[in-house]
Amino acid sequence: MKGRDSYYTVLISVLILVLVFNVIITATLYVHTKETISDYFDSNAKTAASYRLDALLLKVSSNVENKYKIKIPPVSSITILFSQYSQTGIKYLSLEKGGPALELNIPNWIFDYKEDIIKAYFYHEFMHFALCHLQKSRGYFVRDLNLEKEADKAALQFVDRDSMVYLINFSSWDQEEKAARIEAIIIPD
Ligand SMILES: [Zn+2]
Repeated sequence: MKGRDSYYTVLISVLILVLVFNVIITATLYVHTKETISDYFDSNAKTAASYRLDALLLKVSSNVENKYKIKIPPVSSITILFSQYSQTGIKYLSLEKGGPALELNIPNWIFDYKEDIIKAYFYHEFMHFALCHLQKSRGYFVRDLNLEKEADKAALQFVDRDSMVYLINFSSWDQEEKAARIEAIIIPD
């Protein structure tokens, strides 16, 4: 009986060891897989966000092309700016500067808003091209209140007034400019 008892003790010990080992392996694999999966989804989320931005730009650009019967050059670079006071907007690169192409500097806060507001922003920017503001500004951002108002008004062909007012409210830190631009789109001609 003694020999049989120690046989069972060894067997049970081995089984317990196997069980513990299994738990450790499973836990390690679980943690590792979880990290790999979250890495995968993080990188995919970034890719999805940039695809969404590209698709949105393409849509806005082709709607403006159809309405104005013009050809809009491709957007060759998009820079997302994090400072509230950075110069944002759209620039036109002429043939001599490696164009024709458009360069967009987008404020990062725009992505906190829903798509209607982002669209309003892009339509405003593309209106600067359609209305020939960019071609005149020779590679610089448009910084003329009258041209800003023109672009806001023209953008209303594509987006609703509320989204435009909302956008202006958040996009301009100059209180006078903000008031003038909002007034221009609220009060009809
Ligand atoms: Zn503008």
